[in-house]
Parts: sequence; C-alpha cells; structure tokens
Amino acid sequence: MPPQIMGYELIERDKVSVTERQEKIRIVLVNTTHPGNIGGAARAMKNMGLVELYLVEPREYPAPRAIWRAAGARDVLENAKIVQSVDEAIADCSLVIGTSARERRIPWPLINPRQCGERIWAEADGHKVALLFGREDRGLTNEELHKCHYHVHIPSNPEYSSLNLATAVQVLSYEIRMASLADADGNLPSLQEWDQPPVTAGDLEFFHEHLAKTMEDLNFYDPENPKQLLTRMRRLFNRTRMDQMEVSILRGLLSSVQRIIKK
Ligand code: SAH
Repeated sequence: MPPQIMGYELIERDKVSVTERQEKIRIVLVNTTHPGNIGGAARAMKNMGLVELYLVEPREYPAPRAIWRAAGARDVLENAKIVQSVDEAIADCSLVIGTSARERRIPWPLINPRQCGERIWAEADGHKVALLFGREDRGLTNEELHKCHYHVHIPSNPEYSSLNLATAVQVLSYEIRMASLADADGNLPSLQEWDQPPVTAGDLEFFHEHLAKTMEDLNFYDPENPKQLLTRMRRLFNRTRMDQMEVSILRGLLSSVQRIIKK
C-alpha cells in the first residue's frame, strides 16, 4: 500500500471517480488584467482534464480575446464563475493553495509543484480544493496568501522568476494530471482516514473573526497596533488542518470566554 500523507481520507469506502475529483479542483484567477490569459488558462486546464474555473473580479471580461485563446476550451470559459472576492471563491474548499513567483516576508509552508499536484489530487477524493493565481503585475496580496494552507513556487530562474499567468496554470495543472495518473497506477500517497470532515475555508474565516474579537475584548490584541499577531494565528491554524468538530469546540470555548468578559 502506498504511504499516507496527513489529512483526511476514507480508505474504507470506494474512492470517488476521476471525473468527480476533477470537478472538486478549482482554479481561481484573482483580478486578472488580460483576458487572453483567462482564455489561455482555460485551455491549459482542459488539456489537463480540469474544468472548474473561478474568476475573482477580472478587469476585462467577457472578452473576444479570452475566447480566441481558449480555442477548444470554450466550455470551460462558459462555465466559469465570476465572484467578487477570494473569500467567496474558496468558502466551500477545505484545502487552499496559493501560487507565488517570489519569496514573501513571513515564511509559510512551501511545497513544490509535484507535491502540490499530489496533495490536491489526494484531497479531491472527497473535498473541494482551490488553487489561487495572482495578478499579472503584482501576484497575490499578503492577505490572500495568508488564507492558504500552502504556498507553491515553480522553481524558475531566480533572475527572472515570474512566468506568464496561463503558463503557470499549465505547469501546475500538468502536475495534478501526473498525480492522477500515478494514483491510477496505485502509486499516490493517500490521505489518512479521519472521523470528521475537514473545516472549510469559509468556516475557518468565521473562526478567525471570532478569535480576533475575543482577543480584542481581552485587550490581548490591539487593532491599532496589530503587529503580526493575527497572521501568526492564521499560520498556526492553517498548519494544523483542523476538522469541523475541533473548530466548533474552539468556537464554543471563545464564546464562554466572551460571556465571562461581559459579566
Ligand atoms: N510580479 C508578480 C508576478 C505575478 S505573475 C509578483 O511579483 O508576484 C502572475 C501569477 O502567475 C502569479 O501570481 C502566480 O499565480 C503565477 N506565477 C508566475 N510565476 C510563478 C512561479 N514561478 N511560481 C508559481 N506561480 C507563478
């Protein structure tokens, strides 16, 4: 049996079908400027068997240039969902991975494209996953990157590290494809069996709001002088990959603390 990786799997039940898994993998393009890149990304996805495209406030869309570049992947474009925020795009996902063309200030769990493909394919055996791509000129904001469990960097030439957006989608979709083929051959590490479903990004966001409010009520956290406290809390809880039960216990605890403060 292949080794297991940390997470949630249901080894006892049948794995979900390849098509169902592909539908659970969401490519999210954030504030894309050039519609040609949206079309190029759709084509890259379909070539590698992916179908779920989310566009967070694209600058210019719909656009004929997107359709030309998509070529035979027009259906992926036509089914793309346009949303107003990254939070909306990832709310129902339990694993969120952000792409980055360069080093960021606070270190975050970093994986390579191969590990990224394997984790995404393993997680999609039951749960939704989002892979975030940033703006052509400045990538993802720190706030967006801090919503992610992992960051993935394509190990490009350090002197010229930034790939074209659609090309980056191509490379990472290819790795997801390779992971799916390895899985079909029985060579992909599977997720560990777990008794509770993983928390979704949406519920995790409510938890962080609750935590920040409680720390503020306790005068432990000063919104005027935030330093890195909330970022560090996000990094901590993203590393632990909490399940839904664990999050409800913690939220119950925070509510009890708040009741005592208010007395
Ligand atoms: N100047 C921007 C680069 C943005 S490139 C910056 O400094 O961040 C546009 C997007 O393509 C990035 O947000 C990322 O989603 C993807 N991308 C480009 N090069 C990449 C790389 N080497 N590794 C991972 N993603 C990359």
